[in-house]
Amino acid sequence: MKHLFDASLYRFDEAQPSYWEASAPPAEFDAPPLEGDASCDVAIVGGGYTGLAAAYFLARDFGLDARVLEAGHIGWGASGRNGGFCCIGGTKLSPAAQIRRFGRDETRRYYRCQADAVRLVRELGESESIDFQPQGDAEFAVAESDAGYRALLDEAEMLQSLGLETGAHPRDEFREIGYDAPHQHGAISIRPGFGLHPLRYVRGLAAATIRHGATLHAHSEVRAWRRDGGQHRLETARGSLRAPRVILTGNGFMPEHLHAGVYGRPLPLQSAIVTSRPMSSDELRARGWHTQNPAFNARHMFYYYRVLGDGRFMLGGRADHTGRADRAELAFAELRRGIARLWPQFADLDYTHRWRGLVCFAANLRPSIGRMPEDPSVYFAFGYHGNGVNTATWSGREVARWLADPAAGDDVLPRHLPAIIRGRPPRFPLAFLRRQYLRAGLAAWRLRDWLHI
Ligand SMILES: Cc1cc2nc3c(=O)[nH]c(=O)nc-3n(C[C@H](O)[C@H](O)[C@H](O)COP(=O)(O)OP(=O)(O)OC[C@H]3O[C@@H](n4cnc5c(N)ncnc54)[C@H](O)[C@@H]3O)c2cc1C
Repeated sequence: MKHLFDASLYRFDEAQPSYWEASAPPAEFDAPPLEGDASCDVAIVGGGYTGLAAAYFLARDFGLDARVLEAGHIGWGASGRNGGFCCIGGTKLSPAAQIRRFGRDETRRYYRCQADAVRLVRELGESESIDFQPQGDAEFAVAESDAGYRALLDEAEMLQSLGLETGAHPRDEFREIGYDAPHQHGAISIRPGFGLHPLRYVRGLAAATIRHGATLHAHSEVRAWRRDGGQHRLETARGSLRAPRVILTGNGFMPEHLHAGVYGRPLPLQSAIVTSRPMSSDELRARGWHTQNPAFNARHMFYYYRVLGDGRFMLGGRADHTGRADRAELAFAELRRGIARLWPQFADLDYTHRWRGLVCFAANLRPSIGRMPEDPSVYFAFGYHGNGVNTATWSGREVARWLADPAAGDDVLPRHLPAIIRGRPPRFPLAFLRRQYLRAGLAAWRLRDWLHI
């Protein structure tokens, strides 16, 4: 089986009809398809944040000849179509569960890296003069009940003890600094965090990567991967690329069929987004909205939402376990119903754009960086649990540094990185059933939200 979901999710020659595609200028860089036979020091599969950041740092800091092969246009995957939250996350393990499993020091290290990752994105945007449209300076987690607010206060305290900056905003205060809506019962803020234009960011990162000496090939899907002595040979429709080392990225769009070492390990999950027509700042204020910060409602089946630079309301949430285009329409309709229920003040707006894509979970509920135990010349990074803007950028950089480190040896685990992100997640038993597991998991989350547990 080549892809887990419906074929409509893997049309590499089509761009999503997203607000980002509609509002980004055309790419100002050259990424021609791979033609003929070529070779390089490091071949990278996937031209999203992970692959581009890896190529950027390999070229800029280590002078290595890195080439990226991307099946669609650069940023075709989740990196060009996400919600633009550059915030703390990357794992579905709660901070308490991480402490139980990895200890307080390792958990602190993990969150320090997460905060560094948020800052890294801002630094790259600024130092490379990317018009990435940063907004806000924190992320809000919003409670939907008094008990939910108390639980968030506990979480804020825990995150604070792990080195993050958090704030508590009771309902009346949040009405003034966040937004007014019947569902909100107060919120916590988590710093660092901000919103950005994901497609402008990925295109700017690509342009900078080329300026530093790497080569990008768009519309170059890797169709076959062979071993040729000490070299890997990646074959596309019109060419082949030889390299002694490969970095495999792909996250929710991971080409699992190419390498047995990754097959059955990612759990792709659909996320869908709608955006409204723009609103002036006066209209937003009149409709009770006062913040530039991204936010989510703290539930298992949560919504993530923000107001964009031109005043549009954006809402994202989950879609079904099949990926079929007709079912996606139901998901978009469900998002609109969610808006009417939670933000009655936005129910009458026209919604101009809607799109979807795949995020990536894993059985161990945490992101993974490592090398294939069967072949340590293959590096990988994936499994950002819906929080890849910072985590993927940072992971790409960390893979590049590790790969280029002459003292790294043959260890397949990046022992210098926090334990939480080390190594490969387990393969799902009967991996072809993953969509069914997902179906059951989504139903369980819905039930837990309904029961408030
Ligand atoms: C709708 C949506 C909303 C999201 N919202 C947020 C958010 O607000 N904040 C956040 O932090 N994260 C968010 N995410 C997740 C985030 O976008 C991802 O974690 C991140 O972009 C992953 O980057 P990546 O480079 O690893 O993978 P991707 O950007 O998905 O890139 C993988 C690339 O691999 C390419 N590929 C696949 N097969 C092949 C092949 N055979 N040959 C060559 N190339 C191939 C694909 O074309 C794709 O472009 C969201 C994701 C989605 C889908």
